[in-house]
Amino acid sequence: MSLPVLEPCPCLIGGEWRDITGVNASAVHNPSTGQTIAETPMCTAEQANAAIEAAAAALPQWKETPPVERARVLFRFKILLEANSEKIARCITRENGKTLLESQGDLRRGIEMVEFACGAPSLLTGETLENIARGIDCETVRQPLGVCVGITPFNFPAMIPLWMYPLALVCGNTFVLKPSEKVPLTAITIARLLEEAGIPRGAFNLVHGGRECVSALITHPKVRAISFVGSTPVGRYIFETGTRHGKRVQANGGAKNYVVIMPDADLENSTRGVIEGAFGCAGERCMASSTALLVSDAGKAVLPSLRQAATSLKVGPTDRDPQPDVGPLITREHRDRVAGLIETGANEGAKIVSDGRAIRVDNAPNGFFLGPTILDEVQSKMTVAREEIFGPVLNVMRMDDLDAAIATVNCSAYGNGASIFTRSGKAAREFKHRVKAGMVGINIGVPASMAWFPFSGWSDSFFGELHMQGKEGVQFFTEQKVVTSRWFGEEEGSIWSNR
Ligand code: NAD
Repeated sequence: MSLPVLEPCPCLIGGEWRDITGVNASAVHNPSTGQTIAETPMCTAEQANAAIEAAAAALPQWKETPPVERARVLFRFKILLEANSEKIARCITRENGKTLLESQGDLRRGIEMVEFACGAPSLLTGETLENIARGIDCETVRQPLGVCVGITPFNFPAMIPLWMYPLALVCGNTFVLKPSEKVPLTAITIARLLEEAGIPRGAFNLVHGGRECVSALITHPKVRAISFVGSTPVGRYIFETGTRHGKRVQANGGAKNYVVIMPDADLENSTRGVIEGAFGCAGERCMASSTALLVSDAGKAVLPSLRQAATSLKVGPTDRDPQPDVGPLITREHRDRVAGLIETGANEGAKIVSDGRAIRVDNAPNGFFLGPTILDEVQSKMTVAREEIFGPVLNVMRMDDLDAAIATVNCSAYGNGASIFTRSGKAAREFKHRVKAGMVGINIGVPASMAWFPFSGWSDSFFGELHMQGKEGVQFFTEQKVVTSRWFGEEEGSIWSNR
């Protein structure tokens, strides 16, 4: 039997695509088949440093390029992303396991971030107050920081890197991206399009790897800012190490999100919201609706409805047609970890209403599948209630009233998203005001904010001051200068002095 041909996994350093050999490698799988499709080189500190030096060398020219011209590169990039969307979506599906529809959605959200960044000439304008004191004018100017670094997770291979570098670049910074070693191919495919769009050599660089590579990137003296998305322990480490080395850091961490269903909620809409939120992307979403809080007698109708919807979802391989509703998890180890957590939940007293561990996918026996699972009667102290599961598992908790539901949400260590389904404006308003979460949904299962607004996690879901996306993103990638000026002498334009 012939071995499958592995896809190349090069780094981009100073405008050169380099195959890195002689280092450890991490296997990339097609989660639908379990086959190895590539090997990610685990770059050493030396390769990470070379990428930083290349970004530093490209900085003087790129930061002096007018914002309008920088934005034009991104306009071309957006057009290329759209023209290649089918190819990119297939690449995401192949290495991440999302359904093709979900992969298109991943890319669409990323393209929106490029669209936002195309507005740089407006986003970067400063403010002026003429004659702030007699004969004195004051203005603010936004300038790039310098070399910025991005470290990204496996679950949105297109969108999350695109949260970072389009905005960083259009603000005049240069960039080094280190995507997840589990999904390097999408990052490479998209980087080739950025090159084609005309990004100058060295302004954007791509390296692969793990701990050693990341450690070099986040401590290098020429790096000014770090954007990180991933799990909470790694996010906390990146934030603490980066800030200790004087960097500006924004680090998005893990999550545990709640959906409150009030007794007056529309049954069909709330069921759809929870099911899509819990099982879409196989639950591998930082905004997944991982816990449904059923208030008062909402459970009577909602639980059977959730169970019926969950068991009717089709689970299967995503790299061929017909497309399933739920694809595989990212690795065999992760699938086994999630299955183990279901067992732990049952051992600690949760009731399994729908058990995805029993799923068999005949046409893809080696894929990393787990079916939609619902655990009822979950209590706050249980492992499944405290730990991020990051798989197709929905916890159900019973609440006496809205107060109890809000208190449960507010006890969580995380604070990414929280939603309510209700017909009552009063309940929605109270929830919106009191709940401790950075992104709040009203009759929306996954209230992930779009490119024009900050992706606004709280508590252990975020470390830093300025979030990604929106105007906060622009502030993160720039520093502000305040210029106070006075001119002397008639010929120099001192229009105030003789009045
Ligand atoms: P992860 O933390 O394992 O990895 C994220 C990145 O950090 C990867 O590039 C990885 O190579 C690197 N990394 C991992 N361990 C490291 C270490 N010890 N030292 C240095 N670098 C290290 O996360 P993941 O499994 O790829 O992604 C899933 C996690 O990401 C979940 O917790 C999810 O909630 C979170 N996430 C959060 C958001 C958000 O916006 N809050 C969005 C997407 C995913």
